Amino acid sequence: QKYNDGDGISNLQLEDLVGLIQNTEKNILLLNQARLQAMEHADKILKEKEALQRKINILETRLSETNAQHKLSSEGNVSDSPLLLEFDVLKEDNILLKEDIEFFKTKLIEIAETEEGIFKLEKERALLDASLRELESRFIAAQANMMKLGPRDAWWEKVEKLEDLLETTANQVEHAAVILDHNHDLQDRLDNLEASLQAANISKFSCSLVDLLQQKVKLVEDRFQACNSEMHSQIELYEHSIVEFHDTLSKLIEESEKRSLENFTGNMPSELWSKISLLIDGWLLEKKIAYNDASMLREMVRKRDSRLREAYLSYRGTENRDVMDSFLKMALPGTSSGLHIAHIAAEMAPVAKVGGLADVISGLGKALQKKGHLVEIILPKYDCMQVDQVSNLKVLDVLVQSYFEGNMFNNKIWTGTVEGLPVYFIEPQHPAMFFSRAQYYGEHDDFKRFAYFSRAALELLYQSGKKVDIIHCHDWQTAFVAPLYWDVYANLGFNSARICFTCHNFEYQGTAPARDLAWCGLDVEHLDRPDRMRDNSHGRINAVKGAIVYSNIVTTVSPTYALEVRSEGGRGLQDTLKVHSRKFLGILNGIDTDTWNPSTDRYLKVQYNAKDLQGKAANKAALREQLNLASAYPSQPLVGCITRLVAQKGVHLIRHAIYKTAELGGQFVLLGSSPVPEIQREFEGIADHFQNNNNIRLILKYDDALSHCIYAASDMFIVPSIFEPCGLTQMIAMRYGSVPIVRKTGGLNDSVFDFDDETIPMEVRNGFTFVKADEQGLSSAMERAFNCYTRKPEVWKQLVQKDMTIDFSWDTSASQYEDIYQKAVARARAVA
Ligand code: ADP
Repeated sequence: QKYNDGDGISNLQLEDLVGLIQNTEKNILLLNQARLQAMEHADKILKEKEALQRKINILETRLSETNAQHKLSSEGNVSDSPLLLEFDVLKEDNILLKEDIEFFKTKLIEIAETEEGIFKLEKERALLDASLRELESRFIAAQANMMKLGPRDAWWEKVEKLEDLLETTANQVEHAAVILDHNHDLQDRLDNLEASLQAANISKFSCSLVDLLQQKVKLVEDRFQACNSEMHSQIELYEHSIVEFHDTLSKLIEESEKRSLENFTGNMPSELWSKISLLIDGWLLEKKIAYNDASMLREMVRKRDSRLREAYLSYRGTENRDVMDSFLKMALPGTSSGLHIAHIAAEMAPVAKVGGLADVISGLGKALQKKGHLVEIILPKYDCMQVDQVSNLKVLDVLVQSYFEGNMFNNKIWTGTVEGLPVYFIEPQHPAMFFSRAQYYGEHDDFKRFAYFSRAALELLYQSGKKVDIIHCHDWQTAFVAPLYWDVYANLGFNSARICFTCHNFEYQGTAPARDLAWCGLDVEHLDRPDRMRDNSHGRINAVKGAIVYSNIVTTVSPTYALEVRSEGGRGLQDTLKVHSRKFLGILNGIDTDTWNPSTDRYLKVQYNAKDLQGKAANKAALREQLNLASAYPSQPLVGCITRLVAQKGVHLIRHAIYKTAELGGQFVLLGSSPVPEIQREFEGIADHFQNNNNIRLILKYDDALSHCIYAASDMFIVPSIFEPCGLTQMIAMRYGSVPIVRKTGGLNDSVFDFDDETIPMEVRNGFTFVKADEQGLSSAMERAFNCYTRKPEVWKQLVQKDMTIDFSWDTSASQYEDIYQKAVARARAVA
């Protein structure tokens, strides 16, 4: 999972780049500090120079007085002996003074030389200015390059900061230039003084004043030298930091060029392969190419055949026909080792997400695609889905007809890529407008809506002539696929696939009066039997039961939950699961480590990783500010909770956790919403109660961006579920360095191991758990967590770092799915 095969730089590379930028920032900050000090010195010099100037003015006045006296004496009576005497003394003084003036002149020449040095410095500054401008233009070019790689907001923020720093630096250089100008002024005035001295033919000038002048000149000279060397060292520092900045920029540009080169050459992103795949399917559905050609081309896509890639890239932007012809020329028979897998589901993250199911579809899909399988997703085209999360969304020039309630209905087929996966969106042209209801679930006719969708999805696969190896359906909404496939489509010769059904939550089984099964073309009489689709405890029909009976593989989302559902956790299906136990297993879900990655997460104020937890503290501070929480004590523990507020999630324990956190002196942030009006109202009451409390905040809505910020900001994360098939939030929390406090049930039991449990190896202990679903159990786990957090900060830090490095990626789980798929396909081929 170290590799982001989407649109940008790898995480590692990005971390390097961010590191380089941080170094540059530090250097520029150092430079600025040195510069500020130098500016202070320069100001002092300026002040002293002004004082000197005042003295010079006094001298000038006295000089004119002396001049006048001299005139008087030369016009006066020469025989006046005291005056003559004074004149003689003055003459002597004059000679001494001339010598002094000579000395003064040489000093002025030396000052002029210093001036020359300053001129040189100024020239260097001009050169640096020019190189700064060049860097800026290279920087803009680099920006343009980066833009091509897609938005990376946090990264750009850093780049913008760098730009600001550069601007400040340029301003300071200008300030230095102003000081140099002052020096020029001073020099001019000294020149004037010299000229007036000569003109006045000084006769009387006090030695002490000359001394004073000399001392001041010396002082000025020293100051010049100090300023000079200060400027030199600053310029060296400046040059050094510019070289570093230059290097960083060059590396960034190099990276970006390399990346864009990779994207269009050897390592074309899966997004583009998905586009090619959708292109081929579109041609087939539109009957522009034959089934066999489409199969061969799909196989080439799966194998990432470079000829296909080159043809696609070279014909991009030209007529579709040209691309198609060049593809067809390459369609050669071949054998396949990878599988063709089609997921039919009601959710997919981030385009249509309600809960964990959505994360599984994209996470598992991407992991299987990375393993070399051809993966496709079929979803309903909801009016409320996040269309901005779909690339290249377009409607195909074909209508797929599907059966429902005795009629055939047209379906518009949309294609696009989501997270690099090819996705089909089915838009039924049915008067009931099944998926234009502004919500995903919760409609009075949900059973009908999804029975329709299951049928239309299979119809799409059938009509596209695909030879799919695995059709993977999920939860009751697409459970109809299993009986439909074997009872309807296999009879039509569409039987190459094996069916895998995953139940993400046995709480929801999709039951209805038996007759409703006929809507999608299933035979009620044939299926309304205790060993087929009839519900085990009442006379209705049960969609999940049908999928268990009719699928080749049945899975659920964690090993512990797979055990639990074999008893009362099965919500009435335990006996069915026991009967079909040989094909039933629990595979722990993973999380999408590209989406959930604190070191690249664009929603975060500051990205961070296990080695650098300062960013985590910054996110905590940012969330506190955002939610108007007290921020006086950075180390005050923050407890997070992100959940659907339903009975399964232990709503009474969540409520208790809020009060317990307040009692323990922590802060609590809840992000959640409830489809159950009473629960929603209850939590609105709690939210109101705490509205003026600056330690508790309840945000009762669905907000993906905020969820990322809460994971990053929290120190602890509460999941007190009554039952939890897998649960993703505890894994996401750990990846963001938030230590989970969970009830030991289902997937929580398979992913969180108590920190104080000495029967468990230390290296796997990663959180705090409790067994009984009561307030006492939760309180004691919370107390232990708070205790560790406040009393042993070093131990806590190590725990946080350990949690952040646990591998929760889909890699291992996807391998398990790959294994069971392959076994099912091999069995099918063996009997064929
Ligand atoms: P379930 O599927 O039972 O809802 P999971 O733990 O498997 O629970 O998955 C929950 C997913 O939904 C996580 O990705 C979580 O971050 C997200 N989620 C839950 N509630 C919210 C919310 N109010 N706002 C944003 N994301 C949420």
